[in-house]
Amino acid sequence: MIIVIDGPSGAGKSTLAKKLAKELGIAYFDTGAMYRSVCWYLMEKKVSLSDAKQIKESLKNFTFELRKEVGEFRFFVNNKDVSNLIRASEIDKNVSQVAAYPFIRESLVHLQEEFSQTEGGAIFEGRDMGTVVFPNAELKFFLVADPKVRAMRRYEQLKELYPNATYDLKEIEKSIIKRDEYDSNRTCSPLKKAQDAHLIDASDRSINAILQIMRTFVEEQRA
Ligand code: C5P
Repeated sequence: MIIVIDGPSGAGKSTLAKKLAKELGIAYFDTGAMYRSVCWYLMEKKVSLSDAKQIKESLKNFTFELRKEVGEFRFFVNNKDVSNLIRASEIDKNVSQVAAYPFIRESLVHLQEEFSQTEGGAIFEGRDMGTVVFPNAELKFFLVADPKVRAMRRYEQLKELYPNATYDLKEIEKSIIKRDEYDSNRTCSPLKKAQDAHLIDASDRSINAILQIMRTFVEEQRA
């Protein structure tokens, strides 16, 4: 079974996808991490993110790999573990610009399709999973939440990753809204709810309450 979870930044997609996948005993893929990895690589190489030609040239030497370590996936770019590096706020600021390039999306979608051959099925979370990559997924969710709630989640994630840095909640909220606007308005595979996706508002619901809703749909689907 292929299950997809799409929605804007910080709505809790990853946490939910991880938990649901564990319960169902199937694989989970965080497609945002793939776009973040490309962005990290280009920034590391000091490539201009507005120069498509330079980006294409630079990506000839890019390799991306997922490795399962102690039960969780780690992301490797050219053999370097970038799992934490790709969560930095510099990546937050620039990743949407990178993700808007059709040629970048094309190669990552190709990888996502390969991952979907995983035995037993998988959960994919991202922005265009239900609309473009897996339009025939058995179960689709679209998760939304108030920007304030999403900013708080992002703040807590950043604090956990980089406890010594200081963050401005208002700035995080602004950056989240800006990223969502960019992702929703791009021409290629914009952030959009698939018509047949179940809309879940996570603003006033706990992770466990949302999991329960998802479980019910999974059971319905299996019956
Ligand atoms: O989910 P996450 O916040 O890590 O995603 C980072 C960025 O990657 C998004 O803001 C979006 O620009 C891009 N993305 C995308 N399509 C996906 C997943 C992520 O364009 N399927």
